[in-house]
Amino acid sequence: MSRVVVIGSGIAGLIAAVEASRHHSVTLITKSNLAESNTHYAQGGIAAVSSDDDTVAEHIADTLVAGAGLCWPEAVEVLCSEGPGRINDLVALGVEFDRQGEQFARGLEAAHSHARVLHAGGDATGAGISNALVAAVRATNTEIHEHTFLVDIATEKDATGRSQVAGVHVFDTTGTRFIAADIVILASGGAGQLFRHTTNPAVTTGDGVAAALRAGAVLSDVEFYQFHPTALAVPGSFLISEAVRGEGAVLINAAGERFMKALHPLAELAPRDIVARGIQSQMMAQGGQPVLLDATALGASFLSERFPSISAACRSYGLNWATDPIPVTPAAHYWMGGVATDDWGRTSIPGLYAVGEVASTGAHGANRLASNSLLESIVFAHRAVSNLGQPWPEDAPAARWGAQGPLRELELTEPAGPPRVLGEPASAQSRNLSTQVVDRVELQTMMWDNVGLARTRTTLESTLDQIHAWRPADPAHRLFPDWEDANLLLLAQALTESALARHESRGGHYRLDYRETIPALARPITIARKA
Ligand SMILES: Cc1cc2nc3c(=O)[nH]c(=O)nc-3n(C[C@H](O)[C@H](O)[C@H](O)COP(=O)(O)OP(=O)(O)OC[C@H]3O[C@@H](n4cnc5c(N)ncnc54)[C@H](O)[C@@H]3O)c2cc1C
Repeated sequence: MSRVVVIGSGIAGLIAAVEASRHHSVTLITKSNLAESNTHYAQGGIAAVSSDDDTVAEHIADTLVAGAGLCWPEAVEVLCSEGPGRINDLVALGVEFDRQGEQFARGLEAAHSHARVLHAGGDATGAGISNALVAAVRATNTEIHEHTFLVDIATEKDATGRSQVAGVHVFDTTGTRFIAADIVILASGGAGQLFRHTTNPAVTTGDGVAAALRAGAVLSDVEFYQFHPTALAVPGSFLISEAVRGEGAVLINAAGERFMKALHPLAELAPRDIVARGIQSQMMAQGGQPVLLDATALGASFLSERFPSISAACRSYGLNWATDPIPVTPAAHYWMGGVATDDWGRTSIPGLYAVGEVASTGAHGANRLASNSLLESIVFAHRAVSNLGQPWPEDAPAARWGAQGPLRELELTEPAGPPRVLGEPASAQSRNLSTQVVDRVELQTMMWDNVGLARTRTTLESTLDQIHAWRPADPAHRLFPDWEDANLLLLAQALTESALARHESRGGHYRLDYRETIPALARPITIARKA
C-alpha cells in the first residue's frame, strides 16, 4: 500500500482518488471546494465511440488531424480505444448521460467526422460529472483537504542519486506544512488565468505545472494554448459551446455576412484555431466590435432544452438568443502543453504522475479535438492508478520524443528551493529591488495582446523583457493569490520562451512572422529548469 497524494478535484483528480483509494492510502488536496474546477463548467460533453456507425479508427484519425502533426500516436490510440471503457466506469460511478431511448444521445462538434459527443443535463455535462464524482470520492476513505493549496513538490535522492518524490508542501489557513508521500498524482488543471480573456474559472492558475517545473520535471508543448472561438462578449466571459455551432448556429459579421465559409470548407465547424483567428480578423476589421453568433434558426424550445445553461446565462445578461444573434469573442480555453508524461501518466520525476489538463501526454498534439480533454483525463487517470507499484523507466517520458530531443533550459524567475513559510526571510533573488512585483491584470493583458492568438518575435521578446522586470511578491508575506501570481509569472516565461523557439505556425501556435507549418519542426519543444 502506497501513500498517495492527489492534487486537484476536477475529473482527473476525482477519478484518480476514487480508483487509488481501493488499494492505497489516499489524501486529496484541493485549493477551493471539491466541486470547483474547470471540469464543473464543461458544457459540450465527452467524446467517445458509442455507436455502430462510428469507429475507434475514425476517432483516432480526427484527433490526429486536429493535432496538426504533433500528436504522439500511441497516446491517441490509448485515448480513443480505452475511452469507451472509461465512459462505462463513469456510468457505474453515477454519471447520468443524456439518452435517446436506450442509446446515449450524441452531439456533433467541430472536426469530428461523427456525432460522438456524449452529454449530461444538456449543456451541463461537467456539473453532472463533477457532482457524481464528488459523491463517489466522499464515499471512499480518501482523506480530503479542501481550501488547501499545493505550494511545491518535494523530492529526495534515491540510492542511485536520482531525484524522486518525497511529498508536497501545502498552504492553508494555518500556514505551510509538509505531507509525506510515496506517490504524488498531479491533477491541478491548466492555466487559463494567464490571459485576460478566458473561459476558465479563477482557480485555473497553473500551480501544478509551475510546481513540477520548480521540482525539476520536464514540460512539453507549452507554447500550444487553444483559444475557444466563442465566449460571450460580456465582462467575465461565458463559454458558448462548440455544440451550438454543431447544431447549426452560424457566425456573422457586423454586415450580417457569414465569413467562415470563405476561410475553411468546414466553415463554422473548422478547427478551433482557424475559427478563432477568423473571428479575430473580423473583429479587427470592424474596429474591435465582437462578431455575432446567430442561433435563431434553432428555435426557442430547442435552445432552452438542449442548452439550458447558456440560455440562462444569456438571460442574465439581458440577451434573448432565440430571437437575436449574440456577441462573441475568442478566449483562452485549453492548454495542450504541460508536464510531459508517458502513456501511463509518468513524468520525468519518479513517483510524480500528471493526469488531466496539467499533463502533456501528446494525445492532443498542437491542438485538441473538441471534447477530447475530459476523455483524456479519465483515460490517463485510470492508467496512472493502474501503474502504481510498477518500475519507473529511466527514460519516462523522454522515449516519446527521443533521448536526443531538444531540451530548453529555463532560468527561473524565482529559484526552486526549500519550502518557504510565512515569516521566513525572502531569498536574495526575490528581494531584488531593481524589479517590480508583478501585477496580475497587467500580466494577463500583456499575455493576451502579445502571446495570444497571433505572435511575432518582436512581441514575444518584449514580453520576456517585461517578465524579467517583474518579480513575485516576497514569499514571507504570501497569501493564496500571491502564490498564484508567482506561478503565473513563471509559466508566462515558459510559454513565451517556447513560443519564441517555435519558428513556424502549427495548431494553437500562430506566428505572424512564420505563417507556414514546417514538416521538419513536427517535434515537441521541451523545457526544464536550469540545474
Ligand atoms: C467553460 C469550459 C467548458 C469546457 N467544456 C469542455 C467539454 O465540453 N468537453 C471537454 O472535453 N472539455 C471541456 N473543457 C475542458 C475541460 O473541462 C478540462 O480540460 C478538464 O475538466 C480538466 O480536468 P482536470 O481534472 O485536469 O482539471 P480541472 O477540472 O481544472 O481541475 C483542477 C483542480 O485542481 C485544483 N487546483 C489547482 N491548483 C491547485 C493548487 N495549487 N492546490 C490544490 N489544488 C489545486 C483546482 O481547484 C481544481 O479542483 C471545458 C473547459 C471550460 C473552462
